[in-house]
Amino acid sequence: MKREFSPTTTLFCLIGDPVSHSKSPAMMNAAFETLGMDSVYLAFCVPEKEVGTVLNALSVMNVEGINVTAPHKDRVIAYLDEISPDALISGAVNTIVKSRWKFIGHNTDGIGLISAIKDELLVAVSDARILIIGAGGAARGVVFSILKEKPASLTIANRSFDKADLLSSDLKKELKGNIEIDAVPLDPEAINPDIDQFDIIINATSISKATPKDISNDISQGDDFFGLDLFQMKKRALFYDMNYGMGRDDIEGAFKKNGILYSNGLTMLLHQGAHALYLWTGETPPIDIMRAALGLKKP
Ligand code: NAP
Repeated sequence: MKREFSPTTTLFCLIGDPVSHSKSPAMMNAAFETLGMDSVYLAFCVPEKEVGTVLNALSVMNVEGINVTAPHKDRVIAYLDEISPDALISGAVNTIVKSRWKFIGHNTDGIGLISAIKDELLVAVSDARILIIGAGGAARGVVFSILKEKPASLTIANRSFDKADLLSSDLKKELKGNIEIDAVPLDPEAINPDIDQFDIIINATSISKATPKDISNDISQGDDFFGLDLFQMKKRALFYDMNYGMGRDDIEGAFKKNGILYSNGLTMLLHQGAHALYLWTGETPPIDIMRAALGLKKP
């Protein structure tokens, strides 16, 4: 059935650059329809220098909620009236709620990733040894939530080592309890010798060449995944790629053949989106409808 809009239709939107790959509009519009809301969700590609102009304009329009994606998650903070503790600690905002004409920043990426790993993939985070690759907004958005789950260890690897090191120091300041935290360069020589020690490896970079060396040639323009021997991960370990939409159906099978669990970021998109919807509306998100809109199977 074709949806109808009215003069009072409210707007929710995604801002980022790029956004053309995003599956959030499909997921959120399916949810609005199920909830019977007179609302629409659109994606806007916003160049870096226009973030302030766009947020100022949205603040005076009938916009009730905004999602923020790369690379604007830290940049938007300067334009908000308030910020939640989760967003403040991570220094990254992915969800903006408008309340009484004020913009309040939240971060639902952490809860989204943890729910994806625990509830969709049925993998334990507590006591796991975890490697996260990347130290940008997405990594910052999830590491504090990972810490709350009490993993055995959390190692951060990033191309710019100083950013990994800073994130590791910020985490250590929050640390209560006995969790090993360290930073390493994104260098195969530093990571490969111990790659079989990790229970979970998370790709939080914006590069999605999640292709172990062995199968890289024909399906990834000859590139591999930062030279890491992902197929040497231990059996039943999880490789979680926060990116999605690369049309790489072959990858999951290749990991499976090597006894390793693989997921792309759609499961995280589902749960960060469901939590954002709850913050915007107070409604219980229609999670099965949202999962189906993303083409995901029930766990
Ligand atoms: P960001 O703040 O721009 O950070 C990008 C990260 O990727 C940095 O760690 C950067 O390393 C690294 N990187 C970029 N190009 C690289 C290269 N050529 N080689 C090695 N590392 C490179 O972006 P973000 O906000 O963290 O987002 C990262 C990705 O996560 C995006 O693709 C986003 O779509 C995805 N994401 C998905 C979900 C979901 O729900 N599935 C949620 C959040 C984010 P340097 O620090 O060295 O530049």
